Amino acid sequence: MSIVSVDDAANTWKLPSWRSLLPVGADAQTGGYRRFSFTPADSQCRDWFRLEAVHRGLRVETDRNGNLWAWWDPEHARADSEVVVTGSHLDSVPDGGAFDGPLGVVSAFAAIDLLVKARVEPVRPVGVVAFTEEEGARFGMACLGSRLLTGAVTPEAARELTDADGVSLAEAMAAAGLDPEAIGPDPELVGRIEAFVELHIEQGSALAGMNAAVGVAESIWPHGRWRIDFNGRADHAGTTKLADRSDPMLPFAATVLAARTVATELKSLATFGRVAAEPGAANAISSAVHAWLDARAPDESTLTELVSQVTAVAALSGSSHGVTATSTCESLTPAVEFDLDLRDRVLAALAGQEIEAPVLATGAGHDAGVLAAAVPAAMLFVRNRTGVSHSPAERAEPEDCETGIIALAAVLEELACR
Ligand SMILES: [Zn+2]
Repeated sequence: MSIVSVDDAANTWKLPSWRSLLPVGADAQTGGYRRFSFTPADSQCRDWFRLEAVHRGLRVETDRNGNLWAWWDPEHARADSEVVVTGSHLDSVPDGGAFDGPLGVVSAFAAIDLLVKARVEPVRPVGVVAFTEEEGARFGMACLGSRLLTGAVTPEAARELTDADGVSLAEAMAAAGLDPEAIGPDPELVGRIEAFVELHIEQGSALAGMNAAVGVAESIWPHGRWRIDFNGRADHAGTTKLADRSDPMLPFAATVLAARTVATELKSLATFGRVAAEPGAANAISSAVHAWLDARAPDESTLTELVSQVTAVAALSGSSHGVTATSTCESLTPAVEFDLDLRDRVLAALAGQEIEAPVLATGAGHDAGVLAAAVPAAMLFVRNRTGVSHSPAERAEPEDCETGIIALAAVLEELACR
């Protein structure tokens, strides 16, 4: 089987679709992206998606949860026909890279282009999806769009999520012209999805070490976010004796160091990437410190152990400083094992293009991980030259992206065109 040549793919990579998306939400100062859900940058990303779909004659829909769908369905399949879906997300973390998310959406459109050019037609509809709020950068819950679609979060809980300015998801959706009362699971659509394949830049350097352009996901580590609130007493930095202080910054600092030690011992990952001090004055002892722990581990019992050890240090260190420490789990995603049969079909399709793809586990969450609970799901990873992600330094080489597009086209041909 040879559906495309490398030359075709090289041309694909230079198509305007990537270049026209590139400036949207870019921050001139940091070089990173700020594409937060239901903001003007997000709305421009959505316009880009619609334009790309219409330009290819694909049918565009926005579902009740704000996820965008473009359907390649030249045979006008029955409304209850099984479908194959690919795609990713267009939102970003604060100052994220260009590839995390958009690479999967751009590659999905480009893969369809390759198949069309090769006169390969789908026998069941192929959907390109862009999920809303995958990063959770605005409302704090990762993979919100795919969780709502599959029922992994209730509409009530989702509507009450708020951003840093206190704007609720319901308010933000209404302002963007969507109906927040309509959000919720769509078992009919989910039930039709025969396979979901997400292409994504690798968020580490495993493929670089294996000299492979593309990899296939085996599993996603269980992971979650915990907010730890350290409450002490505000006072004057110049007049309060050290012995008289209830400074929440001290147990916070001890907890950060402990998280590193415990994660090392348990061969896991623990990160404090967000912290807020109140009142936040340089010459005042804080009244409170709010910190967010991101924890990931190879299995669920190790994750539980990691978080319980870290929160125990927070409580113990807090009590020695006259500070209370309470932790709240904000999100928890169980371990994901991707569908074995689908993975074999993906690997076979790649082998048909002479693409050797190692099988990898990852610590990063994805919409494919959420979908995997409901439908057969698979992931293709594209090598990341820097190994860095969630940063402007994230980078995938054009030739690796081309291999990714060829790989995805071969997978879509295998799943939807036979
Ligand atoms: Zn992503």
